[in-house]
Amino acid sequence: MTTPCPSCGAPVPDGGACRESFDLLLIWEWEYQMQDVHHLLVACYHIQHPHLYSREGLAGALDLLRRWVVEGEYVFDVRESIRGGVSNSQRDYPITARPDNIGAFRQPVSWTMTAADVVAAGPDRFYDSVRAWSAGMVEALRSAGELV
Ligand SMILES: [Zn+2]
Repeated sequence: MTTPCPSCGAPVPDGGACRESFDLLLIWEWEYQMQDVHHLLVACYHIQHPHLYSREGLAGALDLLRRWVVEGEYVFDVRESIRGGVSNSQRDYPITARPDNIGAFRQPVSWTMTAADVVAAGPDRFYDSVRAWSAGMVEALRSAGELV
């Protein structure tokens, strides 16, 4: 038996947690030395669980996703990029959620893929799966009016 994740809709085995799929993908990255899309993987999972971000963190992650998928620009120093530069303390804000600052979408987003699909496709298809996941997310976010 499975229950849909309340955040991303992925099927979660009874007694399990959606996070376990993400954790397994992180293990694969190390076990099979597939760390080329690490930041994209992290952003995809967290954007589908936006309550893990602050509002600014979610906005920054969405901008990174757009740049990665639409413009083909891979940003390695993600924290620096989201913060707009550590030297500018005026723009420094938390990336992760705080009790008074929790990321959310205006309306539910209908995701076509989740971390569970990347797990189901297996480690041999890891990079292709993460790229398909991120591309599908951009389409879903555009349909929901969250990305232009
Ligand atoms: Zn989930």
